[in-house]
Amino acid sequence: MPEEILRVEELQKFFVTVQGTVRAVDRVSFTVHAGETLGLVGESGSGKSTVAYTVVGLYAPTSGRIYFEGSDISRPVAKRSKALKRAIQIVFQDPGTSLNPRRTIQQILELPLKVHRLTVGDRKAEVVELLRRVELPPEYMYKSPHMLGGGERQMVAIARALATKPKLIILDEPTSALDVSIQAKIINMLIKFQEEMNLSYLFITHDLSLMRNVATRVAIMYLGKICEVAPTAEFFQNPLHPYTKMLLSSIPVVLEEEEALKPTKIISEGEIPSPVNVPPGCGFHTRCPVREEICSRVDPEAVEVSDGHLVRCHLLNRQ
Ligand code: SF4
Repeated sequence: MPEEILRVEELQKFFVTVQGTVRAVDRVSFTVHAGETLGLVGESGSGKSTVAYTVVGLYAPTSGRIYFEGSDISRPVAKRSKALKRAIQIVFQDPGTSLNPRRTIQQILELPLKVHRLTVGDRKAEVVELLRRVELPPEYMYKSPHMLGGGERQMVAIARALATKPKLIILDEPTSALDVSIQAKIINMLIKFQEEMNLSYLFITHDLSLMRNVATRVAIMYLGKICEVAPTAEFFQNPLHPYTKMLLSSIPVVLEEEEALKPTKIISEGEIPSPVNVPPGCGFHTRCPVREEICSRVDPEAVEVSDGHLVRCHLLNRQ
């Protein structure tokens, strides 16, 4: 097993609002190893982006711990060392808002090089090299973000993340705002950079089908909690949590073999509850087609059913 680069233990992140306390992330634990991609998948409101922002230091945890290469980094970004900020980068969903519209691409890509004093030779040459790596021509450095297409802007955002030679990149829905053809190009690029630099990715997405060819392991979040995590092949061949089965049964597939592996179509009841009003017991019990009496009273603990395959469900606890 490659070295563990990120460990998140019992992470909680709550927000106090006028409506009440939002339990956005509640006792979430996972690891990311060097060179792997952990896909963190969930519907809107599941808490997956809050996990990303807390790991990167944009939010301080309410409780729980985050370790990077064995050191405790459970603090906001302002209190993190420059070396740590270099090592963990984030790429946001919308490059239109994450790139400063008043700067040229050259200024945007030079900024991390200046802040982290990374330039060894000609800074402009380094900007050209960063653009080359994301397959953009050198003359793009003189453009502003609004002169670029959505995919090109995201490539600049990826180049900016690569500028600090990070070890871990948090990818927060990096392709979901883009056309399918551009999505494929960006995914291939990310895979290439991962192989070249032994990068680790925490890939946040609502698109479970995307994870089949991208993730090393897949974790499913529902209402602030991880309900199932498994190595990718095991995850798609042997899903066990009713919510995972529901998600898998509704994704489109191309091959007959893939269709045969899909769980029987599961129709859930109702909508995802508000994180201000988290139901007692298992968070999924209000929609679960196989719930039992205990489910509305007791929140199940995670059980390891096979190597690296963890599930939180009372039905599994009994097997
Ligand atoms: Fe469904 Fe109960 Fe399992 Fe929750 S614990 S997923 S409600 S069966």
